[in-house]
Amino acid sequence: MTCLRAQITGLGGPEVIEWVESDIPAPGPGEVLIEHSAIGLNFINTYHRTGLYPVELPSGLGLEAAGRIIGVGDGVSGYAEGDRVAYMGPGLGAYSTHRVMPADAMFKLPDNVPDDIAAAAILKAATTEGLVERCADVNAGDTVLVHAAAGGVGLIMVQWLKALGVHVIGTVSSEAKEAAARAAGCDHVIRYDHEEIAPQVREITGGAGVPVVFDGVGKDTFMASLDSLRPRGLLVSFGNASGPVDGVNLGILAQKGSLFVTRPTLMHYYATPEDRELGIGRVWDMLGSDKVKVTIGQSYALKDAAQAHIDLEARRTTGSTILKP
Ligand code: NDP
Repeated sequence: MTCLRAQITGLGGPEVIEWVESDIPAPGPGEVLIEHSAIGLNFINTYHRTGLYPVELPSGLGLEAAGRIIGVGDGVSGYAEGDRVAYMGPGLGAYSTHRVMPADAMFKLPDNVPDDIAAAAILKAATTEGLVERCADVNAGDTVLVHAAAGGVGLIMVQWLKALGVHVIGTVSSEAKEAAARAAGCDHVIRYDHEEIAPQVREITGGAGVPVVFDGVGKDTFMASLDSLRPRGLLVSFGNASGPVDGVNLGILAQKGSLFVTRPTLMHYYATPEDRELGIGRVWDMLGSDKVKVTIGQSYALKDAAQAHIDLEARRTTGSTILKP
């Protein structure tokens, strides 16, 4: 049996994704060998492919996947062959049929979380947990703004916030995405493909603005996000789907109401074993119950990863996407 994995030797469009066949690797000390059953697609994968997030070439692609342990290296305790696991890094290479990973990067899957759901959502739900429960101070009764509310992170975040008793205004770019955002619980939806965001937010909030904006769109929504905040509100700018935010004059934060901006990344919220245990406990609680239902809007064969990138970047996807080996 062989292993198939994606590799990039240069940066660029989806066409730089190549496929390499090799022998199945053996786990070394402290490592496990996983046979993937599903791999998660994430907008971050496109940043690695284009070089927006630096990678050392040649490189694999993909951060998150789920599957079964089929080999255990020396010195590993707590994991055995047959265990169902998922992971969300470290390192790139999840676009593969098999992968050797550090055992301490694994999360055991609860019985009520299927592999496809885990692959589709582990990184996106952990991101949501970190941002909603530990980065921003969001309280029941608050009204917050979530951009790209029908995206992978978006649909999870909307439901998570609703489970906490928060009112949610979501932005989306199409009628179908509006329906998905409303089904996830959005109280208000702004069609930012043709509606101005900030005036709508002011109208919905009686002129006050929102205390928190969750913005994974980046460049195109940055100013509207600031203009939607109430004085001393917080912009959680956590992604770059439309391009990175740069060249900011900090003075605008004063002019627009002594605002706060943070640019968080998951790894700093899941840095210690205690953070990982706490965070993933909340993730399994939300995904394993009816509180957050994961929408797998698209599923592609692993070898069609380039097409999945094309569709994700063209805003044609809704909810989460998985690649199947
Ligand atoms: P999504 O499924 O949300 O896809 C991105 C969405 O962004 C699109 O569907 C689209 O929704 C919207 N969008 C707006 N403008 C553009 C544009 N110019 N090009 C493409 N899309 C655009 O992706 P993910 O759920 O995988 O990721 C969401 C965000 O979360 C990303 O920015 C990602 O980088 C970030 N992220 C950050 C993490 C962190 O640790 N900070 C961890 C994980 C993800 P619409 O058509 O409705 O506008």
